[in-house]
Amino acid sequence: MSDAPGWLTEGLGHIWLPYTQMRTAGPPLPVTATSGTRLRLADGRELVDGIASWWTACHGYNHPHLLAALQAQAEAMPHVMFGGLGHEPAYRLATRLAGMLPGDLTRVFLAESGSVSVEVAMKMAVQYWLNKGERGRYKILAFTGGYHGDTIATMAVCDPEEGMHAKFRGLLPEHPVLPLPRDAESLETLDQFLAQQGHRIAAMLVEPLVQGAGGMLFHDAVVLRRLRELADRYGILLIFDEIFTGFGRTGTMFACEAAGVVPDIVTLSKALTGGVLPLSAAIASARVFDAFWSEDPNAALMHGPTYMGHALACAVANASLDLFETEPRLQQVAAISAALHQGLEPCRAMPAVADVRVLGAIGVVELKQAPADLRGLKEKLVEQGVWIRPFGRILYLTPSFTIGEEDLERLMAAIRTVTAGLPG
Ligand code: PLP
Repeated sequence: MSDAPGWLTEGLGHIWLPYTQMRTAGPPLPVTATSGTRLRLADGRELVDGIASWWTACHGYNHPHLLAALQAQAEAMPHVMFGGLGHEPAYRLATRLAGMLPGDLTRVFLAESGSVSVEVAMKMAVQYWLNKGERGRYKILAFTGGYHGDTIATMAVCDPEEGMHAKFRGLLPEHPVLPLPRDAESLETLDQFLAQQGHRIAAMLVEPLVQGAGGMLFHDAVVLRRLRELADRYGILLIFDEIFTGFGRTGTMFACEAAGVVPDIVTLSKALTGGVLPLSAAIASARVFDAFWSEDPNAALMHGPTYMGHALACAVANASLDLFETEPRLQQVAAISAALHQGLEPCRAMPAVADVRVLGAIGVVELKQAPADLRGLKEKLVEQGVWIRPFGRILYLTPSFTIGEEDLERLMAAIRTVTAGLPG
């Protein structure tokens, strides 16, 4: 810490860090600049980023097209309120998202964070039923292993253990959380539950194909098709939380495309602005929106965050969509996927490893047990010149799609090296 910058040592007495026991945790690494897939530290070292800043920076850092859009918008108009005033970046973004998403997912509500967009989606689902005159549907059916945010409403639909439902009982609203219908038994359980309780459920909520923060757990497209079938059979809405999976991460632009399933509401955030500014969206199908279309003011969606549709964020999101059109992002994801398969596979034979799995630009090495010295492991990774943040039993890579072969190899080599050193 002796050569740490003054702003860090002074500020550490005042800042409150995420997911951190402040008493025992070491200080964070001071970052002074970013470029491409690299983080520059205050002492001049450069780390290859394997996480893309919590899965946001899909085009790498400081992409000139994103920065130019940000600057142009800042000069014209940083932001104006969204109630009663409109601006081109948000309206264009809504039109473009509606055009990209499958089916009739055409009505875009813009917010600032992923969690808030999930809350908006939950509210839309519950009010959909109220507007249709059904008064008993206040529950959201969620799935074990899921993660949808840290706000109180979203914690309540996370995995019960990860979402700390026991600890916060009394604070969190109670929603049913069941296993995903991966096999005949879990399908039967869900079917039975819906047969008995379906009339109380407004919507089912799932991260399609990959449950990210819950442990990088993958499931097949058939699971999503089963959910769609059950939702239709029992007349329940289906919400896909594509905050992690959206924008190419799993290999197609949206995970729902790979599954051939159209949800009734989808949530997006993270890579929506290519990691430059916070922005999220809850996008409803025409059927959902129709239930709000009325002469009755009480039927309107009562939600409106101060910074919703932020003009700077929307301008950058439009620029990010330009890059998906003009640069070969999905081909890059396919190439990363192939490299991850090859580069992480040797870990499978290591004594500490339970599983190796890859989907799109997500590479996972799952350990048999959480490392005894997680902090030491993180330090070893930094010594290898990489920024990788293991959690629980999971070591994973979600790099920017623009990462070069050499940087990707450095990330995978670091994982192989530290994993080889772990006991079985
Ligand atoms: N939903 C999913 C699938 C996520 O992965 C996350 C964040 O990791 C969220 C929701 C919450 O997003 P935010 O942290 O922007 O509130």
